[in-house]
Amino acid sequence: MAGLCAGLFLRQRGWSVDIYERSSEELTSRGAGIVSHPELLALLSDAGARTDTEFGIPVEDRRVVDRAGKIIARFRYPQIATSWTRLLHMLGDAFPREHYHLGKNVTAIFSDAQRVQIDFADGTSAAGDLLVGADGVRSTVRSFVSREAEPLYAGYVGWRALVRERDVPADLHGELFSTMLFCLPSGEQIISYPVAGPGDDLRPGHRSLNLIWYVPAEEGSELDALLTDIHGTTHSGSIPPPLIRPEIIAAMRAHAEEVLAPQFRALLPLAPQTFLQPIYDFESQHMVRGRIALIGDAAFVARPHVGAGVYKAAGDAHALSAALGEGRDIDAGLRRFEAERLPIGRRIVDFGRYLGHCLRDDFYTESRRLAAAHHRSPLGIIEETARLAFLCRNAP
Ligand SMILES: Cc1cc2nc3c(=O)[nH]c(=O)nc-3n(C[C@H](O)[C@H](O)[C@H](O)COP(=O)(O)OP(=O)(O)OC[C@H]3O[C@@H](n4cnc5c(N)ncnc54)[C@H](O)[C@@H]3O)c2cc1C
Repeated sequence: MAGLCAGLFLRQRGWSVDIYERSSEELTSRGAGIVSHPELLALLSDAGARTDTEFGIPVEDRRVVDRAGKIIARFRYPQIATSWTRLLHMLGDAFPREHYHLGKNVTAIFSDAQRVQIDFADGTSAAGDLLVGADGVRSTVRSFVSREAEPLYAGYVGWRALVRERDVPADLHGELFSTMLFCLPSGEQIISYPVAGPGDDLRPGHRSLNLIWYVPAEEGSELDALLTDIHGTTHSGSIPPPLIRPEIIAAMRAHAEEVLAPQFRALLPLAPQTFLQPIYDFESQHMVRGRIALIGDAAFVARPHVGAGVYKAAGDAHALSAALGEGRDIDAGLRRFEAERLPIGRRIVDFGRYLGHCLRDDFYTESRRLAAAHHRSPLGIIEETARLAFLCRNAP
């Protein structure tokens, strides 16, 4: 996503751009859904993507229900829920195919003050005036720019599930397909919202509901137990869904019966598969080194509450192309880009930690605890998770 945005914006400034993607096949579904907003749509449109086509599923508001399922807070915030692949296709369609190369896994990078060369696993190589590392959370390029970046575990995991629309009980359907629904057991948070169904299908009856439930798990034995699979292997980062032990799924479902609203208790057993994802974030100390720049998840990863992964990627790409212009002074442009986006990346990561405060009381100072008090109320949570635009604005 970040790479395509950078490619599109830089081409508008007259750059010649080639994109090298590790995957040998077209990228397909990555995560269940992306909730979009006018700021993101404006950026994608500026990049050249056609945003006038059917885009996603409108949700009108955010609501919080209590353990009994009664609405206790409501915040009107119209948004469009769409899918990662839908966005990717919109961008991909605008980028020339002959400059998009699949099956190119970057394994080595050589750079001097003027040029960068990259080597691929297939034995080929490429060179240019600038390398943009848009290679995601496990970036290879990052180690050449910001060696010290280490992911930080948030202290909780996210259970994710998808429920097909046809399986959603009729009495819940209307509410669940027009709103982003929250339930907030103490120290936990579960959210549902509609997304496209298999094959990016947006037709009523063919869509899905995306569920994500944040539950605390101490680093060490508690987290390791969750990530230990049916064969006794303990995974780090994430665990393949079919390998999650049945007793872990059973314990999760029993806990759901204890703490969740009936809407969510009804939905969870309808999901054919549940995914378990420990929540991490990290921040790079640098986004530029020589003629190499980092953008998107390669540079900063915020906790998912912020919902800004794609918006941040597109914002980085836009800022990079604006700072570089037509490339008359690339080094000065890269310095401008880093000065502008480093604080924004930090602010987004920090905001993710702030939003996670209702899950883990690990704030560093008393003043931050007080500032976060509002976020502990149901209305505060649904209002503040909607506060995206101010984070990514270019002005400090
Ligand atoms: C499983 C998953 C679920 C997600 N769910 C959500 C969500 O629900 N909402 C949301 O807002 N965001 C979500 N995100 C994050 C969101 O997709 C990203 O923030 C957004 O796509 C911008 O990321 P990016 O382009 O920087 O990195 P990515 O989308 O990760 O793209 C990086 C690309 O670089 C390629 N690559 C990696 N290493 C190499 C290499 N050595 N050589 C060549 N190519 C390489 C990868 O194959 C990949 O295609 C999710 C991400 C993932 C991975």
